[in-house]
Amino acid sequence: MMTAKEYEASLRRLNLKVYMFGRRIENVVDDPIIRPSMNAVALTYGLAHDPAYREIMTATSHLTGKTINRFCHIHQSADDLVKKTDMGRLMGSMTGSCFQRCVGMDSLNALSVTTFDIDAEYGTAYYKRFLKYLEYVQENDLTCDGAMTDTKGDRSLPPHQQPDPDMYLHVVKEDENGIVVRGAKAHQTGAVNSHEIIVMPTVSMREADQDFAVSFALPSDTEGIIYIMGRQSCDTRKLEKGRIDCGNPLFGGHEALVVFDNVFVPWERVFMYKEYEFAGRLVEQFASYHRQSYACKSGVGDVLIGAAQTIAEFNGTHKASHIKDKIIEMTHLNETLYAGSVACACKGEKQPSGTYLVHTLLANVCKQNVTRLPFEIARLAQDIAGGLMVTLPSDEDFNSAEVGPWLNKYLKGNDSVSTTDRRRVLRFIENLCLGTAAVGYLTESMHGAGSPQAQRIMIARQSDIQKKQALAKKLCGITGKSNV
Ligand code: SF4
Ligand code: FE
Repeated sequence: MMTAKEYEASLRRLNLKVYMFGRRIENVVDDPIIRPSMNAVALTYGLAHDPAYREIMTATSHLTGKTINRFCHIHQSADDLVKKTDMGRLMGSMTGSCFQRCVGMDSLNALSVTTFDIDAEYGTAYYKRFLKYLEYVQENDLTCDGAMTDTKGDRSLPPHQQPDPDMYLHVVKEDENGIVVRGAKAHQTGAVNSHEIIVMPTVSMREADQDFAVSFALPSDTEGIIYIMGRQSCDTRKLEKGRIDCGNPLFGGHEALVVFDNVFVPWERVFMYKEYEFAGRLVEQFASYHRQSYACKSGVGDVLIGAAQTIAEFNGTHKASHIKDKIIEMTHLNETLYAGSVACACKGEKQPSGTYLVHTLLANVCKQNVTRLPFEIARLAQDIAGGLMVTLPSDEDFNSAEVGPWLNKYLKGNDSVSTTDRRRVLRFIENLCLGTAAVGYLTESMHGAGSPQAQRIMIARQSDIQKKQALAKKLCGITGKSNV
């Protein structure tokens, strides 16, 4: 397993083509806007070496028997799935942000199920290829970006009817050596902190879409792959001298648009091509795994609750009964998120390949809760924090010889607490609740791993409403068939 330092060094060896604010970034690792997101991934490596977290952060490879980072592991039991939930919560609570590496883990697990199933149906050899790739990822302890979301163009049209076919990533050429692909993947979490990029289709497909039914993996610095960084609200605060206004100066996340400009993929890296009936299943399996991963938000909730309690103490309101009750409510909501992730893990089942898949209905219920409850948790945190959170002058004002002394005098709360510490907590709560950490808490809770409607579709599909009706009718004594 790599250490955090070795991980950072390995990123320096990559030759990624990254653009931000219209310019190519030559030194991605040290860029002040990107760096906090790299720190968050680096902690997934660091904690794996800490004896206190070994049980959660590492696993035994079912391929080699070696100890590996759990982010590279294929779940071999329901217990593995529960440990995955706990790893997400732990990482979320240690970083207060998105740590990005789950997307690759969820892609690997989904592919371990689907490649096996495609082979069983068609006698292809994807699973063997995939296992070889997996061993490479595990042996080198790599971070993978799981790239699913296409840019989609006109949402009312399937891939093959788009006026511009590149709206969905697709194969433009094939020969005996491999395929050439073109398209783009949007909202790629942690893309420029990754060694590998694993591409999967984004929707169910029909026969006419078979050129779009493609899954493969490539080194992230392959010729023709271009990364364009997404903005985050208040991102340029990271360029300022003072660190307090960043809210969470150490950790963060990032998203990028990843363009594939006629990129060559050798056959040994292709895990699905033209098996369009399996595109939807791969999407569902990845989505279910990734919806379970949102236990990360209960970890971020832990630090937000801790920050709310701290600011209440700094403000001197912590003994008020309504403040105590709000902290209880935040805790109740946060544990509800965690409970959903644990439940879908405990109820996970073995697939033909041997991989354990989460209970997909419960995974979708878990993520649907995540689209709602963090907003209420954030509302309560802002209630407790008070309005100063958004009217606080800048770090530079506090450090100014002219106005700093006034600010430090008048913006003090409890006499034993410095105004600087009070600012630190207020900026941290602002960071989580008001968009400075959109990748990390609220907006990502809403749209990450699929927007709310995506879960409702899967909940509807799996709710077995007929069975529920049969139960009700039996108790009501309704026996005849109705014609409705
Ligand atoms: Fe992982 Fe959560 Fe970030 Fe998704 S939002 S990549 S589950 S930390
Ligand atoms: Fe996500």
